[in-house]
Amino acid sequence: MRYISTRGQAPALNFEDVLLAGLASDGGLYVPENLPRFTVEEIASWSGLPYHELAFKVMRPFVTGSIPDADFKQILQDTYGVFAHSAVAPLRQLDSNEWVLELFHGPTLAFKDFALQLLGRLLDYVLAKRGERVVIIGATSGDTGSAAIEGCRRCDNVDIFILHPHNRVSEVQRRQMTTIFGDNIHNIAIEGNFDDCQEMVKDSFADQGFLKGTRLVAVNSINWARIMAQIVYYFHAALQLGGPARSVAFSVPTGNFGDIFAGYLARNMGLPISQLVVATNRNDILHRFMSGNRYDKDTLHPSLSPSMDIMVSSNFERLLFDLHGRNGAAVAELMNAFKASGRLSVEEERWTEARKLFDSLAVDDEQTCKTIADVFAATGELLDPHTAIGVHAARECRRSLSTPMVTLATAHPVKFPEAVEKAGVGKALELPAHLADLFARPERCTVLANDLKAMQAFVGEHGNRGKPL
Ligand SMILES: *Cc1c(COP(=O)(O)O)cnc(C)c1O
Repeated sequence: MRYISTRGQAPALNFEDVLLAGLASDGGLYVPENLPRFTVEEIASWSGLPYHELAFKVMRPFVTGSIPDADFKQILQDTYGVFAHSAVAPLRQLDSNEWVLELFHGPTLAFKDFALQLLGRLLDYVLAKRGERVVIIGATSGDTGSAAIEGCRRCDNVDIFILHPHNRVSEVQRRQMTTIFGDNIHNIAIEGNFDDCQEMVKDSFADQGFLKGTRLVAVNSINWARIMAQIVYYFHAALQLGGPARSVAFSVPTGNFGDIFAGYLARNMGLPISQLVVATNRNDILHRFMSGNRYDKDTLHPSLSPSMDIMVSSNFERLLFDLHGRNGAAVAELMNAFKASGRLSVEEERWTEARKLFDSLAVDDEQTCKTIADVFAATGELLDPHTAIGVHAARECRRSLSTPMVTLATAHPVKFPEAVEKAGVGKALELPAHLADLFARPERCTVLANDLKAMQAFVGEHGNRGKPL
C-alpha cells in the first residue's frame, strides 16, 4: 500500500515510512492511494470473529508489503489483549434501536487507546527491524498524553517525553501519566499553559539539533496509523447489529475529525453506513461547516468536554481532499487561503455531497449535563460528557428510527468528574478495578520552567532510555 499527500507535492510513502512521518513535506496529510474495498459477502463472513481477528481482516491491506501477516496478527493480539473487557468494544443498549459503543475499556479509559496501543507496538516493531531508535515529544492537556505513554511503555526503541501544563490537568489525568514508570518514559510538567507546551513541541520539530541525529516522531491525531486503527470498531459494531445486510448510523463526539473520518473510510471500504453525525461542543467549527458550508476559525471556548476543545480540526483536510476529487493542488490552494484568512467554504455541489452522509449538532455544557442525568435516570448508564454530546446529537439528528443508531462512547465518566457532578450523579462514579489504586500509586514527574532550551536540554540528557543522547 502506498500513501499520498492531500496537497499532492510530497513523495508517496509506504506504510513503514508513513508510520514514522508526521505532516507530509508539502504540509499535507497522508492518505492511502487506493482505499481497499470489501464486498458485502466478505464482510458478512467476519461475523463472530474476536476483535483482534476482525482488526486483522480490516487493516491487513493497509500494511501489506511492510508487515508479514503472522507478525501483524501477533501485534494485534497483544494490542487488544490488554483491554479490560473481553469484547474489547462492547455495545450497550440505551433505547429501542439505540446503542453506545463503549470504547473506554483500554488502559487509560478513553478511545485513544485503540490507536495508541497499536501505534506503540507498530513503532517498536518497525524500529527493531531497522535497528533505529526514536524520540517522541508530545504536549497534552489531558487525554492523549496518558494514552501515548501507556502505548509506549513496553517499547524498547522509543523514548517518550510528554509535556503537560503544571497544576493544570485534572488529578486523574495527571496520575494516569505520572504513575507509569519506565526508563523510557518522561513526564514533564511545564510551568506554563497548554499552548506553551504545544509551542515547545512545534519549535522542537522545526529545529532538531538538540536531538543529535535521533529521529523525532509525532503521535498526534494526524498520524495515519491512528486513523487506521479506528476504522475497525465501526465494522465491529455494525456486525453485531445486523450489518452488513442492514445499514447502521453512527454519532461521533468530534474534535480533530480523526475518529469520525475513520467511520467515513469504513463506509468507503464497503460497510453500509447510512449516516454519520458530527457531534461537537461549543467549539463548533465542524458544525458550522456541515450546517452552513462555513469552516471559519473562532476563538477557543473552554468546555466541560475538554478533549473536543479545538479551534480547527486537523483531519478535516482529509475529507476536503476527497470532496475535491483528490486534487492535491486544489486542496493546497484552499488550505493556503484558509491559513491567511481563517475562513473556508467549498463549492455548493461538494458541500451537498458531504451532506448526503454527514449531519451535525453543537451541544452546550448545560445540555451535556442534562443528557448525562437523563440517560442515567432512564438506563443506569453513566455517560462521560463527550459521549453525552454524541447521544444528544444522535437523538436530534437521527434520520431513521428503523436504522440502528450507535454513539461512540469515547471516554469513561470517571475521567471527567466535573461534568458528572454537575449533572447530579457524581455518586455513581467509580474507578474500574484495574485503576482502583490510582490515587495510592507513587508518581514520577519533572517540573521545568517554561523555557524551550531547558526542556530540550532535559531531552538531550535523558533521551536514550534515561541516558544522554
Ligand atoms: C480525542 C477525543 C475526542 C475527539 O476525537 P477526534 O478524533 O479528535 O475527533 C472525543 N472524546 C474524547 C474523550 C477524546 O479523548
